[in-house]
Amino acid sequence: MNLWDFPVYLLQHKLQSGEISSVEIVRAFRERISQVEGKVKAFITLDEEGALREAARVDQEGGYTGLAGIPYGLKDLICTRGMKTTCASRMLEDFIPVYDAFVVAKLRETRALLMGKTNLDEFAMGSSTEQSAFFPTRNPWALDRVPGGSSGGSAAAVSAREVPFCLGTDTGGSIRQPAAYCGVVGLKPTYGRVSRRGVVPYASSLDQVGVLAQNVRDCALVFSIIAGHDPGDTTCVNVPVPDFVSALDEGVKGIKIAYPREYFALGVDEEIKAAVMKSLKKLEELGAIVEEVSLPHSEYALPAYYLLAPAEASANLARFDGVRYGYRDLEADNVIDMFAQTRGTAFGAEVKRRIMLGTYALSSGYYDAYYLKALKVRRLISSDFDKVFASYDLIVTPTTPTPPFIIGAHVEDPITLYMNDILTVPVNMAGLPAMSIPCGLTRGLPLGMQIIAKPFAESLIMQAAYAFEQNTEYHSMKPELEV
Ligand code: GLN
Repeated sequence: MNLWDFPVYLLQHKLQSGEISSVEIVRAFRERISQVEGKVKAFITLDEEGALREAARVDQEGGYTGLAGIPYGLKDLICTRGMKTTCASRMLEDFIPVYDAFVVAKLRETRALLMGKTNLDEFAMGSSTEQSAFFPTRNPWALDRVPGGSSGGSAAAVSAREVPFCLGTDTGGSIRQPAAYCGVVGLKPTYGRVSRRGVVPYASSLDQVGVLAQNVRDCALVFSIIAGHDPGDTTCVNVPVPDFVSALDEGVKGIKIAYPREYFALGVDEEIKAAVMKSLKKLEELGAIVEEVSLPHSEYALPAYYLLAPAEASANLARFDGVRYGYRDLEADNVIDMFAQTRGTAFGAEVKRRIMLGTYALSSGYYDAYYLKALKVRRLISSDFDKVFASYDLIVTPTTPTPPFIIGAHVEDPITLYMNDILTVPVNMAGLPAMSIPCGLTRGLPLGMQIIAKPFAESLIMQAAYAFEQNTEYHSMKPELEV
């Protein structure tokens, strides 16, 4: 096994036992990146030399506590001091933040090594990473297919073993859907569990930072570092952070798992349904109690999301006006034209579509009919979940309705692309934690199972996911990238 193939917890082990150095680890990943990155194109910016320098310092100090000496990748809408943060947009092509996001500061503190910034759909708006203003990322399992999105670069980088873990963000599925498409584990925490400070906002009431990794244990290790209160983010909740790693071994005996019938309709591919049902059987064998339930308002989640998220996006993206950040059109001869031309030139088509949709939904006369109505639907979605969680511990569903699709298949058809989020969006609407884990293959492409819990019950999700992982082989399947 090559060093770049090792998960975080084994790299940690090897560092602590003195078997290898952090410099050796970074060199191994640098080598791997040079072999596969030309095909996968997961990164917008790479800084292997910076990581190498830091690795040398970590080696000198020794100790290797936390994630010291372990390299990682970061979705390129999370701010990094002194390193470009582009949001995969022409608007921020040359933007270099003067501060680190809270989560980056946490990882720096533990001396994890930032290898580079990963590709995404522009400003996290999309489900395929084709909306990046720079280039599409490719699915390591099938290079003609999308890796999912918007955290597609992060999922592909982990799947292709270019880094052992990445951080992404999830507003309507952007960690879970690419995790499912690339055959890796992806955790979207409870809204408020992880600080959003320094994360360029898309829809502030839905966005959360989370982890993409090879397996559940790695996810728990990284999550322990980034979770927790930040007084600098008023939406980040001050609740205790449990020991996610030691809870992993507790198994699923007696845990009550519900599967909502609506999530097995909604245009879900037959093979995906079958794989998730088989996984539920496995959980039952391991001691869980599995029953069917209903989440009756599920079908309204997607249309409501595509009003609320663009509404918030239209407000959040108002800051990109050519004055405060990034690109400015220099041709205009007055300030109004400068605003218009800056935004007209530097935003891509999907971002403009969302801004227009959102501005419309918020405009006087339409606000009650669209925005307010969508907020009411959001409440109904949330209470559907509350009712189920009154008698169950976890909810299990497929992560996506289809396997990864061919690059370019839906670019002209945004609605089909929006449909891809149908199984992930309700979780964000209700602010719940959820994880996608690999649960099978169809036609050689990976499939994901989504595990959802009550607010702040990430531990229980990981406990069940870990039990499943320990008794199946899906997490050890990986793409055969020829080099
Ligand atoms: N695909 C969804 C969207 O385009 C979700 C994106 C996300 O979670 N950032 O809005």
